Amino acid sequence: MAVVFDINKDPRRNAGDTSASEAAKPRHPEKANRPDTPILRKPDWIRVKAPGSPQWAETNRIVKEHKLVTVCEEAGCPNVGECWEKKHATFMIMGDTCTRACAFCNVRTGLPEALDAQEPAKVADAVAKLGLSHVVITSVDRDDLADGGAEHFAQTIRAIRERSPKTTIEILTPDFLRKEGALEVVVAARPDVFNHNLETVPSKYLKVRPGARYFHSIRLLQRVKELDPTIFTKSGIMVGLGEERNEVLQLMDDLRSADVDFLTIGQYLQPTRKHHEVMRFVTPEEFKSYETVAGAKGFLLVSASPLTRSSHHAGEDFAKLKAARLART
Ligand code: SF4
Repeated sequence: MAVVFDINKDPRRNAGDTSASEAAKPRHPEKANRPDTPILRKPDWIRVKAPGSPQWAETNRIVKEHKLVTVCEEAGCPNVGECWEKKHATFMIMGDTCTRACAFCNVRTGLPEALDAQEPAKVADAVAKLGLSHVVITSVDRDDLADGGAEHFAQTIRAIRERSPKTTIEILTPDFLRKEGALEVVVAARPDVFNHNLETVPSKYLKVRPGARYFHSIRLLQRVKELDPTIFTKSGIMVGLGEERNEVLQLMDDLRSADVDFLTIGQYLQPTRKHHEVMRFVTPEEFKSYETVAGAKGFLLVSASPLTRSSHHAGEDFAKLKAARLART
């Protein structure tokens, strides 16, 4: 059977900032020989705002002008219409090519290019121009770098602080697996929120997140709190990948043991037929139930809904986090 691979879904092709031959390369060469899985029709409760408003166009212009990469585009996030209308874009630093090959993720995989030394300043400039009160910075995995990109993260945080001292900074980092001392470098730059996503329950790691280790990720989050208890910690998972409810409840306990403040839970959506299949669509009632249980387990904040994503409403949620911590003390 002829298979149309996802070469037409390259956001850079649409942006016109790369050559046609570059964009025509498969985004996920490691998945080329995987069997196709049908993409299920989305249920009625998954409805999003289409991009295209004047405010969305302004965000798009600033992102392109600075030649920045956003996870909103690279991951094909369903919330891009809503978020960009509010000038809320999540910047993805250290390139558009990831050294891992997770089964759920639409970010291009392969050997990344050298770091752009000007990137921290470019991101800081875009944050200032967008007038963001809260910014989320994420990155691809850079297993090829000795420090996993920790110093680049730190430089980006410092550049934003210098340019926009009132902007609060949330980072969503890779796991820095086997990168001794990397976490300490990032924490020393003092982000306001440190997010690292578990993505799924441990029984699904081998299939969904094969390059990662569940308890390493838990320990990473715990270590952030040990190093600097003032930093809010946050983690997220996708559901609909075949996990059992009890496994999700156990994961909540694991995160609470690591003193994590904020949990996000959203529905997994399949980017292409080569990616992990959606095993089922979790209902809004089930999300509500997860939110209630997680709240009872002691998280400062929980966001659980079909369209919840790590960076969705991050600014509003940061204000809620601060208020919740204040109320507890
Ligand atoms: S939810 Fe996050 S990744 Fe998705 S569009 Fe909004 S800011 Fe971008």
